[in-house]
Amino acid sequence: MTDKKRVYLFREGNAAMRDLLGGKGANLCEMTNIGLPVPPGFVITTEACNEYTKLGRLPDGLWEDVLAALADLERDMGKKFGDPSNPLLVSVRSGAKFSMPGMMDTVLNLGLNDETLHALIKLTGNERFGYDAYRRFVMMFSDIVLSGDYPRLKKEHFEKIFTALKQKLGAKVDTGVDAEGLKTLLGQFKAYFKEVAGRDFPTDPMEQLRLAIIAVFKSWNNERAITYRNKERIPHDLGTAVSIQTMVFGNMGDDSGTGVAFTRDPATGDNKLFGEFLKNAQGEDVVAGVRTPESIEELEREFPAIHGRFAEIADKLEKHYREVQDIEFTIENGRLFILQCRAGKRTGVAAVKIAVDMVNEGLLTKEEALIRVPPEALEQLLNPRIKSTGGLKPIAKGLNAGPGGASGHVALDSKTAIKMAEAGQKVILVREETNPDDLGGMLASVGVLTQRGGRTSHAALVARQYGIPTICACSALRIDEHARQVKAGGVVVKEGDVITIDGTLGEVYNAALETEPATVTGDFGTFMAWADEYRRLGVRANADTAEQAEEAVKLGAEGIGLARTEHMFLGSERVPLVRDMILAEDEPTREAALAKLLPLQRADFVGILKAMGGRPVTIRLIDPPLHEFLPPLDELLVEVTELRCRNGDPAALKEKEALLKKVQEMHEVNPMLGLRGCRLSIYFPGIVNMQVAAMIGAACELKKAGIDAHLEIMIPLIGAVSELTYLKAQLDEVARKTMAEEGVEVDYAFGTMIEIPRAALTADEIAKEAAFFSFGTNDLTQMGYGISRDDARFLPVYIEKGIFKADPTETIDVKGIGRMMKICVDDAKAVNPNIKLGICGEHGGEPESVKFCHKIGLTYVSCSPRRLPVARLAAAQAAIEEKGTAVQRDK
Ligand code: PEP
Ligand code: MG
Repeated sequence: MTDKKRVYLFREGNAAMRDLLGGKGANLCEMTNIGLPVPPGFVITTEACNEYTKLGRLPDGLWEDVLAALADLERDMGKKFGDPSNPLLVSVRSGAKFSMPGMMDTVLNLGLNDETLHALIKLTGNERFGYDAYRRFVMMFSDIVLSGDYPRLKKEHFEKIFTALKQKLGAKVDTGVDAEGLKTLLGQFKAYFKEVAGRDFPTDPMEQLRLAIIAVFKSWNNERAITYRNKERIPHDLGTAVSIQTMVFGNMGDDSGTGVAFTRDPATGDNKLFGEFLKNAQGEDVVAGVRTPESIEELEREFPAIHGRFAEIADKLEKHYREVQDIEFTIENGRLFILQCRAGKRTGVAAVKIAVDMVNEGLLTKEEALIRVPPEALEQLLNPRIKSTGGLKPIAKGLNAGPGGASGHVALDSKTAIKMAEAGQKVILVREETNPDDLGGMLASVGVLTQRGGRTSHAALVARQYGIPTICACSALRIDEHARQVKAGGVVVKEGDVITIDGTLGEVYNAALETEPATVTGDFGTFMAWADEYRRLGVRANADTAEQAEEAVKLGAEGIGLARTEHMFLGSERVPLVRDMILAEDEPTREAALAKLLPLQRADFVGILKAMGGRPVTIRLIDPPLHEFLPPLDELLVEVTELRCRNGDPAALKEKEALLKKVQEMHEVNPMLGLRGCRLSIYFPGIVNMQVAAMIGAACELKKAGIDAHLEIMIPLIGAVSELTYLKAQLDEVARKTMAEEGVEVDYAFGTMIEIPRAALTADEIAKEAAFFSFGTNDLTQMGYGISRDDARFLPVYIEKGIFKADPTETIDVKGIGRMMKICVDDAKAVNPNIKLGICGEHGGEPESVKFCHKIGLTYVSCSPRRLPVARLAAAQAAIEEKGTAVQRDK
């Protein structure tokens, strides 16, 4: 036994208790305490869930605590759970610290059996309502609580029975079935249950409650919840709380209903109530997307007084939390109840608009507004949109649930979508309705299109959060899963055919339409300017072409942190020249090939330096092993063998044999640890001499045209200071010679990429010779963690099994690689206080890594152009979090 408090009545908790009561539980407590109409209830703590997970049974004493809280609830309501004359019915709902919409389980209408059903009918005088509640309960309880043991008790089997009955009765929708019909249905459900489970449906309310609590605890570890947590980086050890709440009924008739509304539009951020509601229905009908609901304006027309009261409450809640709220409500016989509120999930576009608006409305400080937008959401602002429809008419229209345009091959179920995506295809997932089990398929898709479900259905919510263009409630679709095809607007689209969806307008096109990057809006500009006010970390881009450099400047790059020159050796015009250079048997032949490459490389540098308009540009000398530019050994072996066997063209055979011999000579068992980076420059000095002559020449050319250029020449893969000293001397001579030939002096400096652990640990020596360091965390992680960046197939399994909390190739492993970086930074600054310190591995655009770079005092982060807004915001957040003045937003 323990004296730990495991059960809290709503009046005993508050919004700050999210860890213990989950987001839903804590907010129910808070709303109760600020006087909103919340049906009474209590919350079982997340700690109790974790105890359950550990023990595999309810911890001692928990059930007694639940009974005590239930007794309190009964006193409060003047009803009794299971009472045959005046029964209390409850819902049992999941709710973790961070919202995981639809990923875990909830059971409604608990406490119903034949006796309480009759009492309910007698008390409400509404027979249809009673049977409707009971048939829903039998289906939901079977599905959620018992289908783990009996798969045939899953919801869809019950739905089939209902569909068959509706057909027989000639009813189009659920509400078209009368009390008598629902009574028949209930009999069929119970008979089906007995046939599958071999026992009667459980009628003891206490047994129902106990099993439902256990089912909700267990749902913390169901597959879709685990997938969602992995994706959202929510820790797996938090557990879910369980809220047990008095039922109110939205299905009592035409003066009842249920709905979900956001205080602002979650797709655009517009400051107006946005939501949906269904008359005569229960909550799961709205969120599960089973029936397509009406917009909230309909509520205003039909129940103006209730709409007014709801708008008042919504406003109060938004001001109270100073955050957009996603609110669930129910109207029971004309009375409004609030069942849940939470921070509203929104698109990147909406997040930025809301942040800017709330600052202008005086609700938030700039700092708070900056902290609340997840940096990754900004990438969605750069989501592509459809360039032009070229006059093409859409084949169908639906709700514009997630903005952006996407073109891809149709997949009719999630498994197929994942398979097609793995094969490298862009996929549009087309479903009648999506449910949380479709998460994997949605994440694998570039767009989602559903026939049913509203803008607040789970499909829409999840897709929006991940920035996946989405259309819901596209009722013109006719999906035939057997024939693997979809019909819409008189057109038949087969699975695998390409369609385009416009998630901004809600339109579907039977063609592959071209998309283009979105333009940056005014609010986005304002928001980024605020971020720049706060951040101290510089931001640069990894860019290898003038076009990329131009895009980078538009997105806020203050320089180029890495131009990989080997990318400039690709292309049909250049590969033969590079090959001639590699295959040269003597120095004069090699020099001749390099002389042809020089003007091409110089033109590249002119383009990049010009685009950067005087901002610093780090250009890295050739890095990869040379055989990367030659055909692979196994391919050549096959070709030569074939030519020999076929007695093929002798000249061709001779040429291939010579190539094969060279490739065999250059073959390395561990190319990533082989002849690359500065080693290659020392081995074949001609290549880097050409590169330095080209870049210095380019800078001179621009200087003469009145354009400033600041060159930082990066020597890669230094492991010992002597390598750097040697190459600097060699390349400095080339630079001086080039400047003398050009007749002008330009600004340049030498530095290195820190990517070999030994370099990081001997920074006290290397920093004396370098004007800058830039962490190449791709190689530093590869060599420091011993994880091949090309073969790390085991990493997803490690993450799934919880062996690694995060993927070290994605976010900096702070304990190991990060520690090495910190030592390197401190040692470098001690000997060279003016040294510039950057990062240009892939981690440079990942928010947590950016924050770490701020913490250890780097000068800048460098990332791909599209990640620049993400890096700028993460850098601002790091500076604000350091001050500790802004309020953190929940996930
Ligand atoms: C790195 O190793 O982090 C790096 C930026 O270089 P590359 O990815 O080109 O090896
Ligand atoms: Mg590298």
